[in-house]
Amino acid sequence: MLDKRKFYINGEWVEPAAQNDLYVLNPATEKPIAVISLGTAVDIDRAVAAAKKAFESYSRTSLEERLALLERLLAIYERRYDEMADTLTAELGAPKTMSREQQADVGVGHLKGYIDALKRLKLREKLPNGDTLMREPIGVCGLITPWNWPVNQIALKVVPALATGCTCVLKPSEFTPLNAMLYAEMVEEAGFPPGVFNLVNGDGLHAGAALSKHKDIDMMSFTGSTRAGIAVSKDAADTVKRVTLELGGKSPNIVFADADIEERVTASILECFNNSGQSCDAPTRMLVERSVYDDVVAIARRVGREATVGDPSKEGAHIGPLVSHIQFERVQALIEAGVGEGARLLVGGPGKPEGFETGYFVKPTIFADVDNSMRIAREEVFGPVLAIIPFDTEEEAIALANDTNYGLAAYVQTGDRQRAERVAARLRAGMVHINGGPHRYGSPFGGYKQSGNGREGGTFGLEDFLEVKTVHLPDAA
Ligand code: NAD
Repeated sequence: MLDKRKFYINGEWVEPAAQNDLYVLNPATEKPIAVISLGTAVDIDRAVAAAKKAFESYSRTSLEERLALLERLLAIYERRYDEMADTLTAELGAPKTMSREQQADVGVGHLKGYIDALKRLKLREKLPNGDTLMREPIGVCGLITPWNWPVNQIALKVVPALATGCTCVLKPSEFTPLNAMLYAEMVEEAGFPPGVFNLVNGDGLHAGAALSKHKDIDMMSFTGSTRAGIAVSKDAADTVKRVTLELGGKSPNIVFADADIEERVTASILECFNNSGQSCDAPTRMLVERSVYDDVVAIARRVGREATVGDPSKEGAHIGPLVSHIQFERVQALIEAGVGEGARLLVGGPGKPEGFETGYFVKPTIFADVDNSMRIAREEVFGPVLAIIPFDTEEEAIALANDTNYGLAAYVQTGDRQRAERVAARLRAGMVHINGGPHRYGSPFGGYKQSGNGREGGTFGLEDFLEVKTVHLPDAA
């Protein structure tokens, strides 16, 4: 078992202020793979002090100097890529192939997306009225990340902080801290000055809250549940710091009768099940035009039955376990709620899949005849669970799609290009995918309504970490 009890503060791996061990479990075996420390407000204080001191000089480095550091980080990440993929399989349970092709890949993609955006960033410009506008690093940033796409979130926050001349303290999820510690080793090797990047492990109530409340933190960038995002906002309010939030989702997927039904429904179900359903932007509510409803249900039954769970340490397209016992219990409760509320169970259901008594495995589950008021249609399940809901008209589809507290992503399947544009314009969501159009690195990622208020990636992601200063000169004589 790995001993990972130190934190990375001021360019050194240091002992925590108090001994408070937590075991990191492999979700497929339920066995401990490492021991970490849970940090306290004292550790957060030390890390924030280091970041504050480092900001004095790092904020004045040139864009070229920071670009060179990021290019070095990219080369190191690429060199240690397989180590990152293996770490994600061990602590998150992401199957080996998926870890390599998706979970680790985002670390490269986002870094390149930010490097491109940084090259285009205008730090100083003349406004049409003659005033000068300057963009400056906002200061010391507190970064809190979840476990579901851990490197994705770390890259989306740490890279723009470092790129813009900010300094930061990262508190990753206590369920998946090892990839974050590996990332810290890479940042260290790249040669960022001491104190520019710091890492403290811990839980939300102690380390997380201490960061949000800290008077010397200028901005909090948070990704996680809407519940915790609200807590971070409240904790940050007394010191009037900027808070950017990337929260949950319950994304609608509108399937019109004129779509390529076989291809789009199959791909949508696989996308819903990807990462064991643990994606904030997963298409979890499939809204289906009544005239093709029975066909879609038949395809869903077949695709759902073909979806297999399996050992994440093996290559393949199978689904791994959920990340933790808590997550397993939450997903079970929602599957049972679906049955209890009268949705028609097509595939899966409560309990573990046969042969997978050990590990947090769940059955890929699909419900048909779901009403949009049921819990499985309103709450984020965060497991491989799909809800299918019929509709009759385009207007009804749009109304059902928007009838949610969330607004992260939305999906539209149709053979009619004009309809796709028309419907996309009316969906209250930060990202609309048409006929499988993917999210590309460098485009803004973020949501409307209770899915958050920030935009990560590329130019928009850099802007979240910048302050705007206007310089007024007297009129020329
Ligand atoms: P979570 O909210 O339980 O935890 C996320 C992080 O916040 C962890 O590091 C945790 O320790 C910390 N935290 C928890 N309570 C806190 C508090 N009171 N103060 C400060 N920090 C606190 O979420 P999770 O279970 O780790 O992740 C899953 C959630 O993240 C889902 O809701 C998912 O939709 C969301 N998510 C959103 C995006 C996005 O970009 N919108 C991306 C990935 C995940």
